[in-house]
Amino acid sequence: LVSRAHQSADTIIRIGDAEIGGNAPAHIFGPCAVESYNQVAEVASDLKQKGLKMIRGGAFKPRTSPYDFQGLGEEGLEILRKTKEAHGLAVVSEIVAPEHVSMAEHQLDAFQIGARNMQNFELLKAVGRSRKPVILKRGMSATIEEFLYAAEYILAEGNGNVVFCERGIRTFEKSTRNTLDISAVPLLKQASHLPVLVDVTHSTGRKEIMSDCAKAAIAAGADGIMAEVHPDPAVALSDRAQQMSLEEFDKFYFSLI
Ligand code: PEP
Ligand code: MN
Repeated sequence: LVSRAHQSADTIIRIGDAEIGGNAPAHIFGPCAVESYNQVAEVASDLKQKGLKMIRGGAFKPRTSPYDFQGLGEEGLEILRKTKEAHGLAVVSEIVAPEHVSMAEHQLDAFQIGARNMQNFELLKAVGRSRKPVILKRGMSATIEEFLYAAEYILAEGNGNVVFCERGIRTFEKSTRNTLDISAVPLLKQASHLPVLVDVTHSTGRKEIMSDCAKAAIAAGADGIMAEVHPDPAVALSDRAQQMSLEEFDKFYFSLI
């Protein structure tokens, strides 16, 4: 179902007023984690001013260490819903368990499936039974074939609203957090009719190359960029070193468009 052989025309996925996979790139920016209403609202007004239509923020954070901030959970979803009401942005957030689908369905405009859950097949089936768009991130050691099959799980349950998101893979290279696999973009676009985003935050982990990598992604055919922005990265509860400040985000954004 995900293949170009099955459908030759590009699929356009609508998330709120945004269209991913259409003629113009559609970007998703926002903080790593939802920390408070004011934190999200500050980013939301900046995005709105720039004419952006979506915001991201994690309510359930799958952290490497169990002692790190795990996210606000349901309260984080509430904050996102209030942000949507106050700022008119579509809200995107990761869910990590099948039972989150019914809890989050009425709060979110799109589900994100994180890298660590790309092959959580019960979760894939659960979002597949919903009709809400799903941003599916590439597993950190997943091949393109496994990535395509993960999306197939969602489509096989009846939900055709899937967007791929390349977010870097694990290699021996230590200068970046992960290795951004630019070749994944044209490979996915050729293999599938579904749109492709590139997350420059979790792939590079380095603010000084995010702008160049984002341009490379768009040049390679990506349908949009994902990146993290926080009003005060120094006190962020997660990904402190990688989130852009609003000033850094300004430069990043205006170099991209
Ligand atoms: C995220 O986008 O918030 C995230 C945790 O990224 P990934 O799943 O790609 O590591
Ligand atoms: Mn993050």
